[in-house]
Amino acid sequence: MQTVQLNNGIDIPILGFGVFQIPKEQTAQAVQNAIHAGYRHIDTAQSYLNEREVGEGIAASGIARDELFVTTKIWVHNVSYDGVMRSFDESLARLGLDYVDLLLIHQPFNDVYGAWRAMEQLQTAGHVRSIGISNFAVDRAVDLAEFNEVVPQINQIEINPFQQQVSQIQALQQEGIAVEAWAPFAEGKNDIFSHPVLSEIAQRYNKSIAQVIVRWLVEQDVIVLAKSIQPERMVENIDVFDFALTADDKAEIATLNLGESQFFSHADPAMIKWMRGRELEGI
Ligand code: NAP
Repeated sequence: MQTVQLNNGIDIPILGFGVFQIPKEQTAQAVQNAIHAGYRHIDTAQSYLNEREVGEGIAASGIARDELFVTTKIWVHNVSYDGVMRSFDESLARLGLDYVDLLLIHQPFNDVYGAWRAMEQLQTAGHVRSIGISNFAVDRAVDLAEFNEVVPQINQIEINPFQQQVSQIQALQQEGIAVEAWAPFAEGKNDIFSHPVLSEIAQRYNKSIAQVIVRWLVEQDVIVLAKSIQPERMVENIDVFDFALTADDKAEIATLNLGESQFFSHADPAMIKWMRGRELEGI
């Protein structure tokens, strides 16, 4: 698997398996299937409420721990110095691991500075190998980087053909912050899996639309998190290393950019209040 080198020298597999919205009872099997399909990078979060089952899937897979790259994320209620210190231990216990490869602040809300100082300490102590952020605008990412010791290794943001984030990717990469794409398929919105422009490109290479999208991101050095519950799609989504897109293909994909989130804006006060009000049992 191709990797991206983070600003701390650690290599991350460029394709990862996301477990958002996979029901608890299906998660352990899905993680085992993904590892069997060839994924060595798993992305979970406190708020997905399936860290325990991710850990069960990892344990049942028989793969050595040091061959896997495991990410979890701190949910907004725990984004403070004390919240990270307490909830990270709980995440580790649920995962059944003694370290994670990447710990992210899930959303740019609450006491991100306190949380970041705790994460820097966890990294120094060897409990997390890399630390980063998610859903941070470029200015917030640079602010965190400039006034702390550690420049975030990663910013995980929404990127898909309808929300291409062209200037954000360029600016973050220039700052030495690797970019990770969530919802690369926009969770199927706008009929993405039958979109005529993507379909025509896919046919040219005898590939699927999903494979064209993953390839388009890989060619930008963007780390891609794809989610599927179906084993054959897990295999399909990482089978992207035997073709390359042309400049014309990329120009066609560029025309699909709507330049806005396909889900919600992180600048919308109502969303911040909604996240604050979410009651998530056990985290
Ligand atoms: P996504 O990967 O864009 O889309 C997943 C959807 O696409 C599922 O409905 C899946 O259906 C379908 N699909 C997958 N492969 C397919 C294929 N080859 N052909 C047709 N349909 C296919 O959405 P996502 O799960 O929201 O994002 C991916 C990961 O990013 C998450 O799992 C999570 O780890 C991360 N994420 C992070 C944040 C954040 O705020 N940091 C937010 C959202 C997501 P089936 O499962 O039925 O195959």
